[in-house]
Amino acid sequence: MYFKKLVFTFLLFASFLLNAQQKVVKTQEGWKKILTPNQYYILREKGTERATTGRYDQHFKKGIYQCAGCKTVLFSSIDKYDAHCGWPSFDRSLKGSIEEREDNRYGWKRTEVICSTCEGHLGHVFNDGPKNTTGKRYCINSAALEFEKKE
Ligand code: FE
Repeated sequence: MYFKKLVFTFLLFASFLLNAQQKVVKTQEGWKKILTPNQYYILREKGTERATTGRYDQHFKKGIYQCAGCKTVLFSSIDKYDAHCGWPSFDRSLKGSIEEREDNRYGWKRTEVICSTCEGHLGHVFNDGPKNTTGKRYCINSAALEFEKKE
């Protein structure tokens, strides 16, 4: 009886660990099937949408922003602000949802922001955000996001 309990506890713990690190991995073809060409270009080819053209640039409804690739919740409207830069801007992400990586493309040193679940490219983070909060500006492509209204 004691042994059974022990095994059960172990399995519970193992499944918890697996879930915590579960990644969404797909082939190029797999991503192309579920993403629009523009979403694919941004998320999987590290593209950038033209400034002011994204659907969430001037969008300030109450809700959450998910990754357009894997639906992981990444940002909250509470942390969104108008940076007048042409892209949706947040002063923070939701804990553990994103990863930051050094990006030296085009000889320009920036910090890339990716979704920790599917490793899709979201945008970049800069240090010119609101001084009264985090000082960070998460500059994110609208095409990498999907908004869900929450009251
Ligand atoms: Fe994702």
